[in-house]
Amino acid sequence: MLVDYHIHTRLCKHANGVPEDYVEQAIKKGLIEIGFADHNPMPEDYDPENRMKINQLSEYIDMINRLKNKYSNISVKLGIEVDYFPKYVDYVKKIIDENEFDYVLGSVHFLGSWGIDNEEYIDEFERRDINEVYKEYFNTVKEAAESKIFDVIAHFDVIKKFGYKPENGYVDVAMGALESIKKNDICLEVNTSGLRKEAKEIYPNDEILYKAYELDIPIVLGSDSHDPSEVGWHFDETVKKLKDIGFKGIYRFSGRKKYFSPF
Ligand code: ZN
Ligand code: FE
Ligand code: FE
Ligand code: ZN
Repeated sequence: MLVDYHIHTRLCKHANGVPEDYVEQAIKKGLIEIGFADHNPMPEDYDPENRMKINQLSEYIDMINRLKNKYSNISVKLGIEVDYFPKYVDYVKKIIDENEFDYVLGSVHFLGSWGIDNEEYIDEFERRDINEVYKEYFNTVKEAAESKIFDVIAHFDVIKKFGYKPENGYVDVAMGALESIKKNDICLEVNTSGLRKEAKEIYPNDEILYKAYELDIPIVLGSDSHDPSEVGWHFDETVKKLKDIGFKGIYRFSGRKKYFSPF
């Protein structure tokens, strides 16, 4: 009984295919539900090459809502992946409040002007102190969890995407953010896309997943698909891992309300 809650569309300018291709792949993989969560519009000076324009938001919403009625053998949900960026909190809040999403993923993709998961700026990892980078990243994730904007924190440790990790791990520096997720009653996304990157492991890593289990944090499952072939990416081995840790299921959303869904 699996679902994939992190699917992009061509509107973000770096994903392939039409939404139907993703839905059909999800059906083939035996998923019971698929949720689209494309990158949110932002003011023009914020990463315009990786997101829809504000005047395309209604096109996105209509496109996904149309799919809800088109398929009877799979359920389709309308989500959105929203960047947490302090300067534009009011801007994104307005978009979230004015539209009827099933759920909102919150992501940290920028520390100041540095796009941390954009390979164009990968050199920055060589210039900076990795321990400081991780500290700043997880402080920002903590702020995101406390912002009350999001239902789910996406790719919790995406800062490891290109394989730059502190020598002695980073659980300690991540704990504050994890505890804020618990305190604010939001979900943690288990995102399998890290397996396709230099990180070579899911987001978050096993150590953090164990902590999340101990804290009884609800989890959501997503592949971060930017191509139809990525839907349900390595879900079988990931669910096995989650079961081994102790998780009994994942959470799903409808109209911003979460509910438990056993594996
Ligand atoms: Zn993307
Ligand atoms: Fe993201
Ligand atoms: Fe994404
Ligand atoms: Zn993402």
